[in-house]
Amino acid sequence: MSTIELNKRQEQILEIVKENGPITGEHIAEKLNLTRATLRPDLAILTMAGFLDARPRVGYFYTGKSSTELLSESIKKMKVADYQSIPVVVNENMSVYDAICNMFLEDVGTLFVVNESSLLVGVLSRKDLLRTSIGRQDLNTIPVHIIMTRMPNITMCAKEDLLIDIAKLLIDKQIDALPVVKEEENGYEVVGRITKTNITKAFVSLLGNDN
Ligand code: ADP
Repeated sequence: MSTIELNKRQEQILEIVKENGPITGEHIAEKLNLTRATLRPDLAILTMAGFLDARPRVGYFYTGKSSTELLSESIKKMKVADYQSIPVVVNENMSVYDAICNMFLEDVGTLFVVNESSLLVGVLSRKDLLRTSIGRQDLNTIPVHIIMTRMPNITMCAKEDLLIDIAKLLIDKQIDALPVVKEEENGYEVVGRITKTNITKAFVSLLGNDN
């Protein structure tokens, strides 16, 4: 379900079904002086969006769900897996200087730090790198594991998590990004990245592709 805003004809159909349902497509068309074929796309949209339900040989009836209810239903269907981006990971022994170059090259605001076994050990934000850079000349000799936020203090999520829960976590923890992880025997493998940008895109996608 995506389209929330209805056009005038869809509103008219909704009113007719509210008052007369269950009612066949044929009868709705008659009331509007239109053909059944003309109405078909509107009925399909109203059914897909969850405003109407259709039963064979009975007709259309109103589900009684408000736009707000339908909107919250579709928000609760959004999963991390459908909105995540590719993660950018660096090794814990990389220098702060190289990490800064990586952040620019990869055009991300958060780097995830892994060990030799490719398991998550830390997170580096823009400010972590800025803080270290102020007034220092030895950025080539400081490895990122010295300055990163480390396990077990990393906030993580899984592919199956609900996007809305992750949005709340970003707010509560006051962070910009979370690694999407898969549990392994000795730790966590980083399989994705969820950032405020992903959440913003998901928010816009609620309007559907045509908007
Ligand atoms: P910035 O520091 O650039 O504003 P953030 O708000 O994301 O970016 O980071 C704030 C602090 O929280 C940083 O010290 C960073 O290392 C840490 N941090 C960022 N993401 C996470 C996370 N997923 N789990 C734990 N700590 C994090």
